[in-house]
Amino acid sequence: MLAAGSVNKLLPIPGVAEHAHGFRGLPEALYLRDHVTRQVELAAAADDPKTCAARCTFVVVGAGYTGTEVAAHGQMFTDAQVRKHPLRQGMRPRWMLLDVAPRVLPEMDEKLSATADRVLRERGVDVRMGTSVQEATHEGVVLTDGEFVETRTLVWCVGVRPDPLVESLGLPMEKGRLLVDPHLQVPGRPELFACGDVAAVPDLEKPGSYTPMTAQHAWRHGKVAAENVAASLGLGGARKPYRHRDLGFVVDLGGAKAAANPLGVALSGVPAGAVTRGYHLAAMPGNRVRVAADWLLDAVLPRQAVQLGLVRSWSVPLDTSSPELARVPGGPEQRQETAARSGPGAALASDTHDEPDPGGAGEEPAKGQPGSGPTQVRPGPGPAQPRTEAETAKGRPSGDGPGSRFTEQRSETDPAKGRPGKSRRPAADPAAIRHRGSRVGSLP
Ligand SMILES: Cc1cc2nc3c(=O)[nH]c(=O)nc-3n(C[C@H](O)[C@H](O)[C@H](O)COP(=O)(O)OP(=O)(O)OC[C@H]3O[C@@H](n4cnc5c(N)ncnc54)[C@H](O)[C@@H]3O)c2cc1C
Repeated sequence: MLAAGSVNKLLPIPGVAEHAHGFRGLPEALYLRDHVTRQVELAAAADDPKTCAARCTFVVVGAGYTGTEVAAHGQMFTDAQVRKHPLRQGMRPRWMLLDVAPRVLPEMDEKLSATADRVLRERGVDVRMGTSVQEATHEGVVLTDGEFVETRTLVWCVGVRPDPLVESLGLPMEKGRLLVDPHLQVPGRPELFACGDVAAVPDLEKPGSYTPMTAQHAWRHGKVAAENVAASLGLGGARKPYRHRDLGFVVDLGGAKAAANPLGVALSGVPAGAVTRGYHLAAMPGNRVRVAADWLLDAVLPRQAVQLGLVRSWSVPLDTSSPELARVPGGPEQRQETAARSGPGAALASDTHDEPDPGGAGEEPAKGQPGSGPTQVRPGPGPAQPRTEAETAKGRPSGDGPGSRFTEQRSETDPAKGRPGKSRRPAADPAAIRHRGSRVGSLP
């Protein structure tokens, strides 16, 4: 049963893999929350208005439901934070939402799109459609219209792609997803089933198309697939085809605001908010009372704004084939040290300083770059696979460990990176690269 889900979709834009933050799973979300909190705190303490403005500018790329929700909630979150850490007079956190599409939520109903657009603009989000990022650097982003926006935060929400694990099978695919029949079985491979984001499941309600990559479908796929596995083993009844009609979409815009079209009926305002919260609560597999109580407390109490320090930047690289797995630099003997460095208060020099620390001691490596030896990216058996220099450059582990010495990899002549001497990577260690190539590695 293949149900490996999806990974971040990257585009070949210089600097994005190094400088952007993903928002695909809980580790990335936890990291981003800390990062945003840190930027607001540093902005409040900044001496000059330029630095303050840069730290308090947050650029979100991708106006699908993820980016739209991140920008909408982000503006509320940082506005609440500056009440505790007031910025320089007259300054307010600025969130930008970019997309090449002509409207937010481009794949959804136009009414949903209009509602979301209105709420975002009313809240103060700078919505720029028909615009994207041309290059990302340590100091900011160059937009496709040529404008340079100073920022320390680029949030990458351009979507996901099926886990590349399924590509390796050499079986028929449909847009990166493994083709299955309506019984969720791989044609010609009776022992192989697939479901969720990795599977291209024929949509019997819309002949000729495949069910979209949503949780709504994924968990229903899982149930049918499990029953069909049992049936294929002679247990239970006959195999059943997968059939489900989309129930509509809900987009949570924070507070009481939402855009929703349950069963095709477009809603906005408080009714949409109620439907959205109600649907999400109903979709929870458990823990509903606790979640509802949390929402209630959030509605009446001030937002909590403390950094948790549980997820370090290098453990949530944007460019990875499986972002949900914990990444631990070094072998078993180095783990104790790693754990000590990863605890609360783990923000280090690279998180808080604009200029690199030449010594590098105690510094957190650049995003997605554990300063250490082998990092396990994917479990499972398989032959060791040598990595190329190009892959090394993508920010995977190398060097001697956290706090090891770093080498400057940016230079005047590095066209991909644009700005010299601002972002550093750990020195490449051929031994570490060889070890890292193995798909059998250390998990915590
Ligand atoms: C930010 C965001 C918001 C979303 N909001 C909604 C929403 O509101 N409504 C909705 O319907 N959908 C939503 N989705 C989509 C939804 O999350 C996915 O469609 C759904 O999670 C897919 O389920 P899945 O089981 O296929 O994959 P996943 O939920 O991704 O689970 C796959 C699991 O397999 C693990 N894995 C990967 N490779 C291996 C391996 N080799 N060995 C072992 N384990 C492995 C992964 O670590 C992961 O835990 C959202 C997605 C994102 C990113």
